[in-house]
This record gives sequence, structure tokens and C-alpha cells, in this order.
Amino acid sequence: MARLPEMFIQQVLQVTDIVELVGQYVALKHKGREFVGLCPFHEDKNPSMYVSPAKQIFKCFVCGAGGSAAQFLMGYEKISFPEAIRSLAERANIPLPRDYAPREFTGGMSKNDLVAVTEFAAGYFRTLLHDPAGRDALAYAKNRGLTDESIEKFGIGYACDSWEAFLSAARRKGYSEDQMVAAGMVRRREGQGGCYDYFRQRLMFPIRDVTGRVVAFGGRALAADERAKYLNSPESVLFDKSHLMYGLSAARESIVQRKQAVVVEGYLDVVLPHQVGVTNVVATLGTSLTEGHVRLLGRYAREVVLVFDADVAGAAAAQRALELFLAQRMHVRVATIPAGKDPCDFCLAEGGEAFQQLIDQAPDALQYVWDQQFAAYQSAEGNLAERHRLIEEFLTLVVSSGAYGAIDGVRQQSLAQHIAHMVNVPAGDLQQQMRRLGRKIRPAQTTQPAGENRAPIGVTMNPERVILEVLLDEPELFDHAAERIDPSDFHDALLRSLAERIWPLGLDGRLSLDELLADENMVSFAPILTELSLAGQRRGNHQRTLEEAVDRICHRKEFQSVQELKTGPLDDESLRELQNRFRQSDPRKRPRIQ
Ligand SMILES: [Zn+2]
Repeated sequence: MARLPEMFIQQVLQVTDIVELVGQYVALKHKGREFVGLCPFHEDKNPSMYVSPAKQIFKCFVCGAGGSAAQFLMGYEKISFPEAIRSLAERANIPLPRDYAPREFTGGMSKNDLVAVTEFAAGYFRTLLHDPAGRDALAYAKNRGLTDESIEKFGIGYACDSWEAFLSAARRKGYSEDQMVAAGMVRRREGQGGCYDYFRQRLMFPIRDVTGRVVAFGGRALAADERAKYLNSPESVLFDKSHLMYGLSAARESIVQRKQAVVVEGYLDVVLPHQVGVTNVVATLGTSLTEGHVRLLGRYAREVVLVFDADVAGAAAAQRALELFLAQRMHVRVATIPAGKDPCDFCLAEGGEAFQQLIDQAPDALQYVWDQQFAAYQSAEGNLAERHRLIEEFLTLVVSSGAYGAIDGVRQQSLAQHIAHMVNVPAGDLQQQMRRLGRKIRPAQTTQPAGENRAPIGVTMNPERVILEVLLDEPELFDHAAERIDPSDFHDALLRSLAERIWPLGLDGRLSLDELLADENMVSFAPILTELSLAGQRRGNHQRTLEEAVDRICHRKEFQSVQELKTGPLDDESLRELQNRFRQSDPRKRPRIQ
């Protein structure tokens, strides 16, 4: 995907008012020249998040979160920097640059050109469902137990029994055939030219991306003789099944609140639980769970409950899911719907409380896999090799779960005891076997985001930090610093890398906090940048502070030069230079030489 142009990002951030944006999510109160509110990024009891209208930044002094409006949205909506900018652009009615989407796949059309078609289609299908033409479809939906509220909430619609109803409606709206084909809404007729509607006589479920835009559809066949009961939009630039989940935009808030997502398989299996009050439910789109799904859910939830129908449940599916989630350090449990039902029927028959209970009581995936495995173990009576293999396989799973931090040592021990009891071997033997397996399994390296790797902040003045604090609050003073020091004079790795970004902008006369926060490469530095800038503002007295801090750095440099003079192998020329520098420096600030 092409990167958003810098100019565009800045334009979007300039027209966005952070107080107004944050105020949509958090109640803000005036406090001096700033606003304060409860920080949504940690469990905040007293308002510790500051929003500065002058600087257009927010900062929490407890958890450290901070940045521009883009960073606030990223954190709150759990989206990427480009997604946040796009969302802000939409709020501000600024059209995206045309070349933002990869052209090679869309014949010169941007993703936005395609979303225009799918969004139009969603409205068109929705209207049709309530037209006389959609009477039977609406009756079918009601018959399946859907209420008007659910139909409205999920934007369910109707594609009528025609080869070109949508095609003509979209054409009248000015959409080109190329656009409709690329958006997956119509297909080209082979040989004879022209196009026809992709979805015909179906109940339509719009599929939204994380930012809430309709990007595809799932259609439930209404004709009894239709071979494909469910039809999804073809995969396209817009629609990547392995990275989207049905219902996520409706379920997201509840998932974040409960730190838990419930994963089912069908559209109605999402809509019905929502209807009966279980709102953290999403579905895969006709594929099995992928790493992309797991990562997507990992943005919002710490735990996932997989709901299996009794008849398709299996240790293999649970084990595969378990392995995927382990890598993301997520906890997985497996709920089983009683035989012959799917979540949709179950909710209708038993109600929301019963469904919630099923979720609450779901065993964790390890337990679930073991129960399945134990059945296999029992039926392998007499086959010692097979029994041994089953146990070894399960122990490996237990040990790797431990290595990934998914279960703790106590739980590992109790599982070993439980298994030992069931298969009638000494628990000590199993524990020994687990230790042996443990040595073979090493968890994947986890990398810490750069933003969290902050340098400790001392109480005494740290001149490197103070210099950046001043420059980020009062960029006009850049020359005062740049005349005497440069980024190589910063010893702290984090502060030096900040200085390395700040210096080129300063030398170019473009240094500003806004500019830095609008840079996608600087996203992980946003919390420290905002912290430094606010600290600078609070201290004030910039010129003198800067002078003193720069003095200290120069002082330190001289001291180092002298140390080198004492210890280093030096040629005559550098020796003379050092001596000169030492003589010219202020004697009061000269370091003492022992
Ligand atoms: Zn916070």
C-alpha cells in the first residue's frame, strides 16, 4: 500500500481539533489552559489525561500514553497510523489522495472508489428489504427470529431476483462497470460483453472493516434450489477474508470492555447472540481461523472463546487454534453447543443468559484437547505405542503453553497430576518427561515496542532531556543549541535518536511538534515527544534553561577530550587541537584533572 503523503497527513491533523475528538470519547473538564479527563488507556480513577488545545496533543502522566489526535485514535480504536489518518480525514470531509491505493490491482482506482460502490450497495440492499419487492426476504428474516433492531443494527438487506437490478441502479448513480467489477459487486459476461449482478435473490449481510466501512457482503440464498447456501464477495483489494471478521465493528467495544472475544462461524450466529445481549461475538468468513484473525483479535482481547457445534467439534481444530493463539499469548477456551444446534438456534431457544453461561463455563482449550485426547487414549487400549504417542503429544502442548506464558507452573503441575491419575502412571514420571520436553521448546522472542523502552527519568536535571524539552516546546531556539552541539553529543540512546530526527528538521527551519507527530516513522516516539514538550511548557524560562543545559553538555565534551588526552593514543595535531580547546574554555567550568 502506498504511503499517505506527508502533506496530506499534516493537512488532516491541522483541521482536526483534538479537544473535540477526545471529547467524543472521554468527558473533559477545563483546567487552566488545558483539559483533563479519565485516561481510557489505563484504569483511571482520577483524571490523569491532559489535552492541550494549544499543542493539539494529549498526555497521560500515569500510563505514559500521549501524542496527537492520530495517536489517540490509534490507541482507542486499536488501529494503525494510516487507518487513524484516514478516519480523521473522513470526519473532516477531506478526500483521500487518489493514488493512495495500489493501482495495479484496481485498474487505476483507489480503495475509496471501490468502497463508494460497496457503501452504495449496502444502502441499496437495505432499502430493497423494506420495499414490496423484499416482502418475502423480510418475512424470511423475521422467521429466522431477527428483530427490526437487529436488521437495522447489522444493516441487513436484500438483493432481488434479477440479473441487473443492482447494475442499473449503480450505473444511474454514475459508477462505472470497472468500478463495480473491482468492488466485487458485478461480474463480466464471458465473451458477449456486459455485466451481471453477483448477488441475486439473497438476504444480504454487509461485512465491515475495522474502521466500520462496508467492504464486502455475505448473501444467504432465499431460493430453495440455490446450490450455494451462502455466497461471499470475491476476494479483492477491499476484501481479505483472512484479515477480516464479521461483526467486529459492532462487537469491538464490548470485546475491549470484557477483554474477551467469542468466535463463531456464521452471520446469524453473530446477529442472534447480539440480539439476546451477548455482544462480544464475531465470526470468521467461511474460512478457518488464520494468524491474521488471531492478530486482529489480539488488538482488543486477552481471551478468545471458540464456539464449536457439537457435531463438528474436534481436538484437531481446537489444537490448531490453540497453537495459533499461544503465539500471541492469548488464552483460549472452547465452548460446545449441544448436538444438532448452532449458536443462532441455541440463542433463540434458550436465550442470552444460557448462551452466556455456556461461554462462562467453557473449559480452556488445553482441558478441551485433553478430554478429546483421553477418549482416543481409552479406545487405544492394548496399543501401547499409540497411547504413549498421545500422552507425549499432549504433554508437548502443555509444556509449550507454559513456555509461551499461556499457563503457569502451578497449572502445569496440576495438569500433570490430573493426567497421571487418569492414565495411571506416577506423576513424577510425567513431570520429568515435561522437564525434558521443556528443554527442547523455546518460546519465540517477543520484541518490545520502541515507545515502551523509555529511559529512566532522574530527579536531577538531565541536560540532554532538558534540551529536547525546550526545543519541542519552543522550536525557535533551535539555532541556540545547534550552534554548539549536535546529535552525536547525546549519550542516551533514546534521546539521541530523537535528536537525530529533530536536527534535520531544525536545520531545515521546519522543526515543530506537529511535524514530528505527523511522521508515520515517529509513531512509537509520540508518547515521549508529547511528554518532553509538555514538560518544557511547564518549566518555561526557555532561553536560560537551554543555555545552562547546553553548557553542561559542552562541559562534558571537554572533560571527555581531556580524558582522551590523558589516556588515548593521539597524534600531534589532535593533541594541539585539544590543548587549544581546553585553553579557550571557561576556566570556571573546566573539569578538574587529578
Ligand atoms: Zn493513562
